[in-house]
Amino acid sequence: GKGILGKNRSHLLHRTGARRATVVSNQHKDISVILFSEKVVKERTLEMGRELAADFAEKQPLIIGTLNGAFVFMADLVRAIDPLPDGLQMDFLRASSYIGASTTGEEAVSLGLVSKVPISGRHILLVEDIIDTGKTLQELCARLKSQGAASVSTVTLLDKSARRQVDLQPDYKGFECPDEFVVGYGLDYNEHYRSLPYIGVLRPECYS
Ligand code: 5GP
Repeated sequence: GKGILGKNRSHLLHRTGARRATVVSNQHKDISVILFSEKVVKERTLEMGRELAADFAEKQPLIIGTLNGAFVFMADLVRAIDPLPDGLQMDFLRASSYIGASTTGEEAVSLGLVSKVPISGRHILLVEDIIDTGKTLQELCARLKSQGAASVSTVTLLDKSARRQVDLQPDYKGFECPDEFVVGYGLDYNEHYRSLPYIGVLRPECYS
C-alpha cells in the first residue's frame, strides 16, 4: 500500500507552537520536532475531560480505549473527567491496521474485544490515539453498533484529517495533526518511543 510517511510539512507546524527538540538522550534524539509538548497535551486533555464530564454526566458511559496506542492518553483522559459520571466503566480493545510505518490499507482491521462488560444498551466512548485514514475507527464503530451499543461517540487525541478516506469525523479531538509520522505519548514506531512524554515527528533516518 501507499506509505503513510508524508513529505516534509514543517511549514504546518507554526500554528501548533512547534519548536526544535532539545537533544537530551536516547529516544529524544530521534525526534526532529516536538509538535505537542507535555504541557500542551496536559492542558488540552484537562479541557477535554471537563467537556466529556458535562456531556456524559447522565449517560453512565462505557469508555473503551484502543490498544496499544491510546493507553497513555486514556490513562490521563479518564482522570481528567471531572466530575465523574455515575456508573462510568472502562475497557480496552486491540485494533491493528499497521505494521511498522506502512499501512496495510486493503487488509481488514483485526480486532479483539473480549469485554467482560456487555456492550448492548451502553453509551460507548471510544478513545483513539490518532485517526489517519479513518478505516480503523469506522470499523470499530460499526462493530460496537452491531453489538447493540445505544450510542458510540469517539474521542481522538490526534486527527490527521487531510488523510481521511472514509466519511467520519471524531466527536472530540485534541489536536489536528500534520501529515507526518508522529510518535510519543503512547504512539510508537515498532513499539519504541511510546513513553516519550510529548508528541513529536520521528526523523526519517530512524525508519529502518
Ligand atoms: P487509520 O485506520 O485511521 O488509517 O489508522 C489509525 C491507526 O494508524 C492509529 O491507531 C495508529 O496505530 C496508526 N497511525 C496512523 N498515523 C500514525 C502516526 O503518525 N504515528 C503512529 N505511531 N501511528 C500512526
